[in-house]
Amino acid sequence: MNVWNPHIELMSKAQLETLQLRLLKIQTRRMWEHSPFYHDRMREAGVSPDDIRTLEDVRRLPFMTKKDLRDNYPNRLMMSDRGDLVRYHASSGTTGKPIIVGYTKTDLENWSESLARAMTSFGLGRKDIVQVSNTYGLFSGGLGFHYATEKIGATVVPASTGNTDRQIDLICDLGVTAMAATPSYLMYLGEVAAKRGIDMRKDTKLRVGLLGGEPWSDRMRDRLYETMGVRGYNCFGASELSGPLFLECAEQNGIHIWGDIALLEIVDPDTGEPLGPGERGEMVITMLQKEAFPIMRYRMGDITMMMDEPCPCGRAHPRIARIQGRVDDMIIIRGINVFPSQVEHSLMQHPELGSEFQLVVDRKGHLDTMLVRAELRPEAFTDDIVALNALRERVSNRLRNVLNISVNVELVQPDTLPRFEGKAKRVMDRREY
Ligand SMILES: [Zn+2]
Repeated sequence: MNVWNPHIELMSKAQLETLQLRLLKIQTRRMWEHSPFYHDRMREAGVSPDDIRTLEDVRRLPFMTKKDLRDNYPNRLMMSDRGDLVRYHASSGTTGKPIIVGYTKTDLENWSESLARAMTSFGLGRKDIVQVSNTYGLFSGGLGFHYATEKIGATVVPASTGNTDRQIDLICDLGVTAMAATPSYLMYLGEVAAKRGIDMRKDTKLRVGLLGGEPWSDRMRDRLYETMGVRGYNCFGASELSGPLFLECAEQNGIHIWGDIALLEIVDPDTGEPLGPGERGEMVITMLQKEAFPIMRYRMGDITMMMDEPCPCGRAHPRIARIQGRVDDMIIIRGINVFPSQVEHSLMQHPELGSEFQLVVDRKGHLDTMLVRAELRPEAFTDDIVALNALRERVSNRLRNVLNISVNVELVQPDTLPRFEGKAKRVMDRREY
C-alpha cells in the first residue's frame, strides 16, 4: 500500500474525529476573532466558539452560500494579514463577479498535501512524469496539480490547455506517465493521436488520468482504459476550497474527503437537516485549516452521498460518491448552460401553451439530448395534427434561438404533467454522471 502521510491517512475513525473537533474549535475561534463578517454571522445564528463542544455542534454554525462569497468581492472575507498572502486565484465568474480566493503559504501547502496523498495512493511518485493540461492562471486547476506533482517528487510538464499535437508530442517524447485534464479532453487527445497513427497503449507510457472539471461516468472511465490504456481517477474540488482538492484512492470507488482538511456534511437541500451515509443530499464543506479564505459550512450545491462501507484501502477518511447533479437548476447540455427559467420564458411567448412544462435530459452515446414537454392550454387542445406540428415547430425554433442548442419538443394534453407543492421539479436528468 502506498501512503504519503501515514500519520494522518491511517488514523482510526475515533482519532480522526478527535483531530477534527480540535481543528474545528481552533478554526471557529479564529473566524470569530479575526473576521467581522463571520463574527456577525455567528452572532446572528446565536452561536459562539464556546458552543462547539462536539463535532455535531458544527450544525449550530450558519450555512454559507456562493452568494455570500460573491457579495463580499473582492476581499472582505479574507482573514489573513495582507503580508501573509502569497497568491490569488479566482473562480471563473460565469455569472456576475468572480470569487477571489487568497492563499497563505500554509494554504498552498495543505492544498498540494491533499492531492499528494491521493496521487501517492495510486502509485505516482518520483519516477513519474505528470503532464498538467489544465488551464494555468487565475483558474486554480493548473497550478494545483503542478505543485502537488512537485511535492511528490515527480516531474511536471506544465503544458496547460490547447495545442493538442504538441501535447501528444510531449507525451511521446518525454515519456509522460500521467496527465491531469478534463476527461473529454483526454478522450479527444486519444482520438487525435489515433488519427496520427499513434497507439496510446503501445507507443506511450501514459497510464494515469487525473480527471475532473466536468461530469463523467464509469462508462467513460472504461472507454479511456480500453482505447488508451489510461486509468482515470475522479477529482473533486472548487476554487472556493482552493482548487482541485480531493481524488479517488487506488480503489477508484469514491473520493476521500481528507478529514483533517475538510469537515464533510450531507444535508437535505430543502430543509438543511443532516443526512446519514447512503442518503443523497447536498454536500456542505467546512475547511478546517484554511487561513486566508476560510470556508464555513459552505453549501456546494452538488448532490452526492457519503459512502457507507469503509474503504477497502483501509483509510477511515470519509468518501463521497460521484456527484449526481446540482441543487440549483442549471443544467449543462453539450457544454452549454441551460436554465429552466430560460425555457419557461420562451414557452410563455406562445399563447397556446400553459404554464406547466418539464425538461428531460438524456445522453445517447456521448451526446446529450434535451426534450421539452410543454402542456397545451385546454382551449388550444385539438386533434388537428398539422396545426399541432406547426406549433411544435415554432416552439422548438424559438427555444433553439434562446438556448443555442436544438431541443426536442413534445406537446402534451392539458393537466397531464406532474404538479408539485412548493418548488417545481421541472428537470429530469437521466444522464449517468
Ligand atoms: Zn480508499
